[in-house]
Order: sequence, then structure tokens, then C-alpha cells
Amino acid sequence: MDSEIIVNKEKLENSPLEINYLGDRSLRQSAKRVSKVDNDIRQLVRKMLQTMYTADGIGLAAPQVTVQKQVIVIDCEPDNSATPPLVLINPTIKDYSNDTCLFQEGCLSIPGVYLDVKRPSTIEVAYKDENGRPQTLQAQELLSRAIQHEIDHLEGKLMVDYLSTLKRDRIRNKLNKRI
Ligand code: ZN
Repeated sequence: MDSEIIVNKEKLENSPLEINYLGDRSLRQSAKRVSKVDNDIRQLVRKMLQTMYTADGIGLAAPQVTVQKQVIVIDCEPDNSATPPLVLINPTIKDYSNDTCLFQEGCLSIPGVYLDVKRPSTIEVAYKDENGRPQTLQAQELLSRAIQHEIDHLEGKLMVDYLSTLKRDRIRNKLNKRI
């Protein structure tokens, strides 16, 4: 039996899960593959979605909430209640386009920082959905970017890693002062 992920896109007063910020060790670890997509995983997905909506994000990876599992949630239209969010479990990028594009990214773990990151424009990604079914998806534009950004999180990689060391240190100093 499929259990549908029903999520209210409303923003809550208190986020169900706490988001880790740059400097937290859990953001630098590799996430483990999910062996079985069960109700515990679906419960995690629900909490991650609600955390993402509450924080005004369009993507969240499990290591950002201290769960070292290969689980990602994405919603490029968080304000549109008619579009369902995307859940990617054990995602693998199967193909990249040769052309790249530079676009500004943000990250819920690095609040207030927006960086231009160069990435392949189009990707093909294989993953399991919230019911454990294998899926493949061709993604472009914002969705392609969001998926690549979140898959980086599963490998302990952050958008600041695309910067020069100098710029990265400057951002880290700025954040250390604030957090
Ligand atoms: Zn991020």
C-alpha cells in the first residue's frame, strides 16, 4: 500500500527539526544509503518538508537536520499548494549536460549568503521516491540546480566549497560573528 505524503505547506511557528549551520560537523559527513523506504523514512520526509517550508527554503537534505541518510526534499514552488514536493531517496546523477550556467544560490545552513555557483545546466537523476519506487528525472533550470545543491549535501559538500579560499574565509568570519 502506498502511503501518500500529505504536507501542509503552511509555515509553522516552530520548525519540527533543527537546521545545522556552517561549521557544524554533520554538514561535512557523507550520508548513508537508505536500505528500505519505510514509515520511519516517510515520517522523516514529512518533518523535513515542514522544516523546509517553515524556513522558506526550496530544498533540504537530511544531513542539514543531523540525519546521515540519503534523503532530499525539494519544492521549487513552495507557495503553490497545487504542486507536490519532490522527494529523492538515494539519488544518483546519471548524466550531466556539457553546458554549464552560473546562478545565484542560497542555503538554509548558510543563512543570508548568496553565491554564484557554476553547475551543469541539465542533469538526469535516478532515485527512489517516498514509496520506494525507482524513478528517473531529467531536470533543468532551478530544479536541476536545487537537486545538484542537495546531492552535494549528501556528500558533505557545501556551496562555499566552490569559492576561492580567501572568499570562503571571509564568509566564515562573517557567519561566526553572527551565529
Ligand atoms: Zn544547502
